[in-house]
Amino acid sequence: MKILKFGGTSVGSAASIRNVKKIITSQPGAKLLVVSAMSGVTNRLVELSRAVKNDQKENVAAIIQELQVKHFGLIDELIDDASANDEVRSGISAQLEILKADCNEIWDQYLDARILTTGESLLSFIFSSYLKEQNVGNTLLDARDFMHISNLENPDTGYVGELLNDIMKASEVNDIFITQGFVRLDENLKVSTLKRGGSDYTATILGAAIRASEIQIWTDISGLHNNDPRFVENTHAVAQLSFEEAAELAYFGAKILHPQTISPVIGKNIPVYLKNTFTPDAQGTCISALAERKGLKAISAKDDITAIKIKSNRMLMAHGFLKKIFEVFDKYETAIDMITTSEIAISLTIDNIRNLDHIVTDLEQYGEISIDYSHSIICVVGEGLIEEKNTSRLFEILQDVPVRMISYGGSNNNISLLVDTRHKVEVLQKLNEKLFQRNLVNSL
Ligand code: ADP
Ligand code: ASP
Ligand code: MG
Repeated sequence: MKILKFGGTSVGSAASIRNVKKIITSQPGAKLLVVSAMSGVTNRLVELSRAVKNDQKENVAAIIQELQVKHFGLIDELIDDASANDEVRSGISAQLEILKADCNEIWDQYLDARILTTGESLLSFIFSSYLKEQNVGNTLLDARDFMHISNLENPDTGYVGELLNDIMKASEVNDIFITQGFVRLDENLKVSTLKRGGSDYTATILGAAIRASEIQIWTDISGLHNNDPRFVENTHAVAQLSFEEAAELAYFGAKILHPQTISPVIGKNIPVYLKNTFTPDAQGTCISALAERKGLKAISAKDDITAIKIKSNRMLMAHGFLKKIFEVFDKYETAIDMITTSEIAISLTIDNIRNLDHIVTDLEQYGEISIDYSHSIICVVGEGLIEEKNTSRLFEILQDVPVRMISYGGSNNNISLLVDTRHKVEVLQKLNEKLFQRNLVNSL
C-alpha cells in the first residue's frame, strides 16, 4: 500500500482535482490518499474561530456562507449528473449545519480544533464523491476513527496501525482509500489538530502505521529546493536527501514539509517522494536511506525564535551548572534548539515561549538573564558538510550581518546561524550566492 498526500493547492480547484485523479489512476496498486482542505480554507476557518471567540455573529454567518459558495462551486464544476450533484450538495450542507451549531457554543481549544479541521472533512467528501462519479471506486475513511495521537511529538504509530488495519479489512472497496489530513483525536479522545500544515505529518504517521511501501507528498512545487523559493531566486530542487537531512530541513523551516513530517519514518526505511501535482513528470525529491551524494544540500530558515542568555560568574570552573539550567527547561516542557557556551555565559534558543515567564523566574537564581525576541535560525544542511572546503565561505556572512549565535560541529550535517529576523532574507540570499552560485554549482 502506498500513501499519497495532496496539499491545499493540489485540491484547490476543479482543474487541479482533475490532475489529482490522473495521478491516482496512472499508478497501479492499493493506495491510501490523504487530503488537505482547499487552499485558503483553513485560513478562513482560523478567522471563523476568532469570530466565534469574539462573539461576532455577523462575521460568523458570512464566513460559513462563503465556505458554502466555494464548496458548492467546486461540486458544480466537478459533478455534472444532477442527482449526484444534489446528493453531494446535501452532504456538504449537513456538515455546514453542524459547523453552524458548533459556532453557537462557548469557544475553547476543542471548539477551535473542530472548526479548523472542517476544511478537510468538506473536501475529502467532495473528492471521494467525484472519484466515484468518475467510476474510480474508493472508500472514504473518517480519520477520527484511527488518528488517535495522544503524544504529538512521538505518536504511537503501532496503535494507529491496529485501528486502521481493522477498518480497512472491513471495507468493501479496498484498493483506494481516502482520508483527511491534519485532524487527530488527543489523549481525551477529543478532536484536535497536528498543527498548521499537519497533513504531511498525517501521511507519514499513516505510512509508518501500515508500513506503506512508499509515501508521496504532492504539492505545488517540484520537490524540496536548495533554498526558500519565496525569498531567493534561482533555487533548484534537490534530487535526493537522506532522512536525517530532510528531518533537519523540515524542522528548521522548509515550509514544504511540516516540521515533524520525517520523524515517524526515520529508521523504517519507507521512501518519501516530494512531487508537483502540476508537473507530475518532474523528478522532484526522493528522501530515502539510499541518498548517496555527500555535501551541501539546502538552506532553510525558522522564524519566531527567542534567544535567552544566562550570564553568571558562578559558572567559572563549576560543574553541574548546565544540568541545572537544562532542568528548568525540562520542568516547563520547552525544547531547546541551539546552544552555545562560554566560561561565564550560556546562550540558547527556544521556539515556544508559552512558559517563558516561569523559565526566566527560575533561571534568575543562576545569573543575569537577557532575552532577544524575533530571531531566525538559518540552517545549512548536508551530510558531511563540515568536511567540505566550500563550507568556510559561509562564515563570510559575518562581514555583512550581525550573527547572534553559531552552532557548528553539533552534527556532521548541520551548521546553524541565529540572526535577527530583519536580516533573514539578506542572509538567505547571500548564503545562496556564496555557497551555491560559485564553484559548487558544478558539483550539483
Ligand atoms: P501544501 O499546501 O501542498 O502542503 P505548502 O504551501 O505547505 O503546500 O508547501 C509548499 C510551499 O513551500 C511551496 O510553494 C514553497 O513556496 C514553500 N517552500 C518553502 N521552502 C521550500 C523549499 N526549501 N523547497 C520547496 N518549497 C519550499
Ligand atoms: N489544512 C491544514 C492547514 O492549512 C493542514 C495542511 O494543509 O496540511 O494547515
Ligand atoms: Mg503544507
